[in-house]
Amino acid sequence: MRIFKEGQARGAGAVSGKDLELINALSRKELAEGEVFTFSLILCDNEVDRDFERFDVSALEELAGLFAGRTGISDHDWSSARQVARIYRTELVREPDRLTAAGEEYVCLKAWAYMLRTAENETLIAEIEGGIKKETSVGVSMRRSVCSICGEESGSCGHVKGQEYGGKVCHAVLRGAADAYEWSFVAVPAQRNAGVTKAFCGEGGLGGFVGSEAGSGFAGEFAQLKALAEIGRGYLGRLRDEVKRLCLICQRDMYGAVSAAAESMGDAELEELRSALEKRVSEKLPLKTQLPGLGEVTDFDGDEYSI
Ligand SMILES: [Zn+2]
Repeated sequence: MRIFKEGQARGAGAVSGKDLELINALSRKELAEGEVFTFSLILCDNEVDRDFERFDVSALEELAGLFAGRTGISDHDWSSARQVARIYRTELVREPDRLTAAGEEYVCLKAWAYMLRTAENETLIAEIEGGIKKETSVGVSMRRSVCSICGEESGSCGHVKGQEYGGKVCHAVLRGAADAYEWSFVAVPAQRNAGVTKAFCGEGGLGGFVGSEAGSGFAGEFAQLKALAEIGRGYLGRLRDEVKRLCLICQRDMYGAVSAAAESMGDAELEELRSALEKRVSEKLPLKTQLPGLGEVTDFDGDEYSI
C-alpha cells in the first residue's frame, strides 16, 4: 500500500568535510563547499498520527536505507526541473525522554539533503532558510498494516481506528517498508492554517467568517449546525422548566435555590436532577388506580370517587 505522511524541514547548516564527501559520492561532478546548500528534515516518526497510523521502529530503519540517495521534489511536481534536492544521509534519532501516544520511546527518521546553489534554486533556498517551505511529505510503500490492539491485519478485525479499547487507542502499525518513492516540500499547509486562524479571529466571529468569501463553502454546514443548536437550546429550556415544576410539587421550600442552580446546569446534570425529583414526586404522590381490574382486590378508601 502507498502511504503519504507529513514531516518537517529544519534549518540549514554548514557543510562539513564529511558531508561534502557523501554529497560528492552521489553527484555527477565534484562539488565545492560554496556550490551546495544543505538542510535537514524529519521524514517520518513512530508517533501515532492524525490518521491513527504509525510506523514501527524497524520500518523506520528500513526507510532510512531506502530514502538515502533519493531525489526530492517541490509541491508534488514531478517535472525533472523541480527535482531539486537529494538526500545524502539518513539517521534514526531517538528521544528517550519523549514517549509516543502508544507509550514507546519517540524515534524519528532524520535526513540531510543538499541542493545546488543556482539562480533557479535561490527562491526555494530562501524559503527553506526562512522556514516558509518547512512542511515535507513522504510517499512510501508498506507491506503490512497491523491492528495495535490484536495484531491482526488492520481492517480484518473488529477494532476501529481511533476508538479506545481497555484504555488504549486503536491504531494501525505500519510494518515492512517496500519502497520510499517520494519526498517533497509542501508549501500549502502553513499558509492555509494561517489563513483560517485569521478568518476565525476576524470581525463577526464564526458567522462573519462563514459570510466571508473564504468561509462561504461552510455556509450550508453552518446553517445546519445553527438549526441544531436552536433545537438543543429549546430542549434545555424545557428541561429546566420541568425541573422547576417538579421541584414545586415535591420540594417547594427549595424552589428558589433549585431554579437558580438549574440555570447554570448542563443537560446531563439537569436530566439527573429531573429523575431524582420524579422519584421524589412518585414517592410523595403515588399513582392510584381509579378502577379495579377484573377479579382484583383493591383497597377502597372512598377518595377515588369523591368529586
Ligand atoms: Zn484488532
